[in-house]
Amino acid sequence: MVRSVRLIVTVDQERCAGCGNCIKACLTGALQLINGKAKLFDERRCDGFGSCIAVCPNNAIRLELREAERFNWSVVNEITFESLMKKLSMTSAPLK
Ligand code: SF4
Repeated sequence: MVRSVRLIVTVDQERCAGCGNCIKACLTGALQLINGKAKLFDERRCDGFGSCIAVCPNNAIRLELREAERFNWSVVNEITFESLMKKLSMTSAPLK
């Protein structure tokens, strides 16, 4: 496990309403809904670009500078073409 100080997303659990917009927007699959709240479940999948931030209606996501596992393309490469296309089609629909 390689760790470094870098920008990575964090979700304010108090503000999160569990709408799922951020999960759809994150093409690298770093976020999941867990018990009705969005959570960063795998640091290696978060590239820190913050596409999830723009789609959050509750301003619950921000970038923080902290030590974390490095972004890892080999983990992201496990995402299949079919699942990526499905996610892209979901994000092209209006976000509620
Ligand atoms: S977009 Fe915001 S409110 Fe919706 S699940 Fe993600 S963090 Fe929660």
